[in-house]
Amino acid sequence: MSICQSCPHLTGGQWCGKPLTGGMVEHEGKEMKLCGCNVRAKTALRWTNCPLGKWSADITKSDVRKAKSWLKKYDANPERVNNKELYELWEKFTGKKKSSNCLPCIKTDIQELRKMILEFEK
Ligand code: SF4
Repeated sequence: MSICQSCPHLTGGQWCGKPLTGGMVEHEGKEMKLCGCNVRAKTALRWTNCPLGKWSADITKSDVRKAKSWLKKYDANPERVNNKELYELWEKFTGKKKSSNCLPCIKTDIQELRKMILEFEK
């Protein structure tokens, strides 16, 4: 968000270019399209990127592949998965440390992880 705050393309203190449509700008000698997103909402999501490459997502396609692979193992045999890997994925996807490792919490976290993967793949 701090990078957006000092970006000349930020409009109305919250939009990347024109609200919702973005618009075209010249950046480093190339014609590029701004996203038109509300940058506060956009930067809260860990899988989004700046359309001009000024900042990058915390979560990559490789992270998503790793998470999907872990979930596949979990679906096949929930008792035999390595929860340490889940904790690492959780931290990567949320930016937060896991606060509880009780079974109901783990199941909720797994549902959240599935939702985040779906969001990433939209
Ligand atoms: S997302 Fe990139 S181009 Fe858009 S306002 Fe932020 S820094 Fe500027």
